[in-house]
Amino acid sequence: LREVLDAVPVGLVLADQRGKPILHTPAARIGGHGDVLVGEALESILAAAARGDTGQRPPELVGPPPKVLQIRGIPLAGGGALAVIDDLTERARLDAVRTDFVANISHELKTPVGAMAVLAETIADHDDLDVMRSLAERMVMEAHRASSTIDDLLELSRIELGGEAAREVVDVGLVMAEAVHRTRLAAERRGITIRVDDPHPPKAIGDSRQLVSALANLLDNAVKYSNDGGTVTISVSAVGQWIDLAVADRGVGIPSRDLDRIFERFYRVDRARSRDTGGTGLGLAIVRHVATNHGGEVRVQSHEGEGSVFTLRIPAADPACPSSIEN
Ligand code: ADP
Repeated sequence: LREVLDAVPVGLVLADQRGKPILHTPAARIGGHGDVLVGEALESILAAAARGDTGQRPPELVGPPPKVLQIRGIPLAGGGALAVIDDLTERARLDAVRTDFVANISHELKTPVGAMAVLAETIADHDDLDVMRSLAERMVMEAHRASSTIDDLLELSRIELGGEAAREVVDVGLVMAEAVHRTRLAAERRGITIRVDDPHPPKAIGDSRQLVSALANLLDNAVKYSNDGGTVTISVSAVGQWIDLAVADRGVGIPSRDLDRIFERFYRVDRARSRDTGGTGLGLAIVRHVATNHGGEVRVQSHEGEGSVFTLRIPAADPACPSSIEN
């Protein structure tokens, strides 16, 4: 019986006729400061179940670390009781993330859609062609904003739901060329030069579509947050079994207090600026997901007013020999 109980991944506690615990599975052992509280709840549920009472209780919130546990008492036919402990912590966390996300999306889409409604109503009340034209132009801008938020959301959910990235040999040179191609127009419009430091980089392992998306987002930001006429540089270096793709700009930079948060969905340092530049607040969330999907990471170094360097680390196809490791 002990061996069987040890193999059960669920928290189970078996009690005698008086509700006193006799046996439990390893998963029923609750650590941390929650011990006492859970112990008390468990005792009263087992005592009630031993008397034949199956009343359901709301989940127990214990911690720290915060945990959500649902304990059910089941009376046993031959006397005694069984308690089943369900750890709902992860489910509760995901529910909270999801609710938050939906609230954020609604808010992000409500702004441009609301603006479009106001602009359209104003157009309906106006006869002056010039005014109407300028309002229509603003409507087009708001429509583009809603549409880029939707595009980024679709991209993010495709990358999230796609799970692990494909593991193909990827030509990093082609990935960089495609990412530069996507950003070139926005850069040219503001006289910004994109410089590629290593036109013949080593090969990586991964998913080229995801990598293009991540790199294009980093380049797009570097351009967006650079001053007109500036230079953005992409460089590649082999670091042991990794390839580092670094995108550097000499733009506005990021205050150190915000560095931890910029990878969160919809987080922006300067809302007004992000809005002016057509930002969706989702670009870096996409980059972080791509990095995680590749088993790599994305890092940032930035100083306000001096510029930023974002480094995307992905697995190399042919790990560099130790003597050629750069750092
Ligand atoms: P956005 O669409 O607003 O650019 P991102 O998720 O791409 O959203 O970036 C989040 C925030 O991080 C931006 O709003 C901006 O404040 C900051 N940020 C990102 N990249 C840079 C950069 N290269 N230079 C300065 N700030 C940046």
